[in-house]
Amino acid sequence: MSRPIRMRILVVGGGGREHAIVKALERGGSEIYSAMRNRNPGIARASEDFLLVKETETPKVADFALRSRVELAVIGPEAPLEVGLVDLLESKGIQCVGPTRAAARIETSKSFAREVMRKHHVPGNLDFHSFDDPKTAKAFVKDMKMEVAVKPVGLTGGKGVKVQGEHLKTEADVCAYIDEIFEKHIGGAGVVIEEKAIGEEFTLQSFCDGRDIAPMPLVQDHKRAFEGDEGPNTGGMGSYSDADHLLPFVHRDEYLRAVEIVKKMIVAMKEEGCPYRGILYSQFMLTRDGPKVIEYNARFGDPEAMNVLTILSSDLTQVCQGIAGGHLNKVSVNFQDKATVCKYVVPLGYGMESRSGLPIEVDEAAIEKEGARLYYAMVDEVNGKILTTSSRAVGVVGVDETMEKAEEACERALRHVKGEAIYVRHDIGKKDIVQRRKDHMDALRR
Ligand code: AMP
Repeated sequence: MSRPIRMRILVVGGGGREHAIVKALERGGSEIYSAMRNRNPGIARASEDFLLVKETETPKVADFALRSRVELAVIGPEAPLEVGLVDLLESKGIQCVGPTRAAARIETSKSFAREVMRKHHVPGNLDFHSFDDPKTAKAFVKDMKMEVAVKPVGLTGGKGVKVQGEHLKTEADVCAYIDEIFEKHIGGAGVVIEEKAIGEEFTLQSFCDGRDIAPMPLVQDHKRAFEGDEGPNTGGMGSYSDADHLLPFVHRDEYLRAVEIVKKMIVAMKEEGCPYRGILYSQFMLTRDGPKVIEYNARFGDPEAMNVLTILSSDLTQVCQGIAGGHLNKVSVNFQDKATVCKYVVPLGYGMESRSGLPIEVDEAAIEKEGARLYYAMVDEVNGKILTTSSRAVGVVGVDETMEKAEEACERALRHVKGEAIYVRHDIGKKDIVQRRKDHMDALRR
C-alpha cells in the first residue's frame, strides 16, 4: 500500500458516527478539525481545533473551515446537507465528502428518491403515492387493499415512519397518523404512503464518487428501543456485521442484487443532473422477491458507521480523496474479514423521556483490552466529567473472528461503562435474535 497522505480535514458532527470517522482518518495521519454541537470528548481530543456550533449554521462552519485551512470536509449528519453546507464549502474551494443540497434530496425528500427510481427504472422500488393533503391520502388508504407504511415527506430524525400492523394497528390508526402529520407539520408537510414490504432489513453503505461505488460490509441495525424489538423507534440501539461481509440471512446473489440497485441509482442521479458524491446508505428489506429499497440516507448510518469503519483496512483519507476527486476506481477499498457487534449505551428512558445530564464513567483502556472499541456519541464533557444528554451516549463495538465472539467482546467491554441511569439492548448480536431473523427469511423464501 502507498504511504498514507496527511491532510487537513474538517469533520462535521459530534456523534458516534463522527467519532468513528475521526478515528479512521487519524489512523492515516490526517489532521482533524471539527465542528459539532456538543463537546464530544473523543473528537475534541483528536482535533487540532474544534468549534462548538449548530451544524446547520453553515456560514459559521465555513468560516471555521477557511480559518483552519482545511483541504477537505467530511459531513457526518444529514441536517447540514439539507441546508447546503457542501454547496457553500465547495464554492469556497473546499472539497467535500457529502452530497450537494440537490443530491441530498435522496434522503431529505422521500418522494424524490422514489420518483427517481421510478423514472429511471431502478429495480427494488415499492409502490408509493405522495399526497399534500390529508383527505386524499386517507381516501387512498381506504381504497388500498394491502397494508402500508406512512412517511412524512421531510426529515424526522428517523422517527417519523409508522408501519401498519406494527406501530399502527388499524386503518383508523393510519388515518389518525396522517392527520397528525399535517396538523403538527411533521417533517415539513406532505406524506408518502407506500406498500408495506415484508422480510428482514439490512443496510448497504457505499462510498460514491458520482460515477462509481465501493460497497461496504452489510450491517443490520436495531431501531426499536427495547429487547425483542419492542418499544418505540429510535435513532438505532446497535448493529452487527459478519466476517464474510454478508449477513446470516442474506445470500450472496441477494447481496449482488442490492449492489446493482445502488449502482443503478448512482447512474440515475447523474442523469438527473445531481451526481451523488459521498456515502450512500441504502436501507433494504429483503423480501421473498429479493431486496426492496426502504430508504436512502445521504451519509453513514449511526451506529452502522462504527461497524464498518472499525474494520476498514484501507486509509480513509485516500478513500475520501477518491470520492471528492472522482477517482474512487483508482483507490482500493478493503475491510478486515472480521465480525463486529455494536451496542449503544443510552440514557435511561431514551426513545421516550431520557434522563439526561447524569455522569457516566468510561474506562477506555480496559475496553480496548477486551477486544472492543469505544466511540463517544452525544455526551457532553463538562469540567472533566462526561454527562449524558437526551440522546445516545457511547457506542461499544466488539470485533472478532465470529459474531458470537464479537458479541462476547462487546459485552465484556460494556462492563467498563458505568452510570446510574443508563440502558443497553443486550440482545443485539446474540444467537437467538440472529437465528430468528434467519428462520423468518428461510420461511419467506419457501
Ligand atoms: P425509515 O425511516 O424510512 O428507515 O423507516 C423506519 C423503519 O420503518 C424502517 O427501518 C422499517 O423498519 C420501517 N419501514 C419503512 N418503510 C417501510 C415499508 N415500506 N415497509 C415495511 N417497513 C417499512
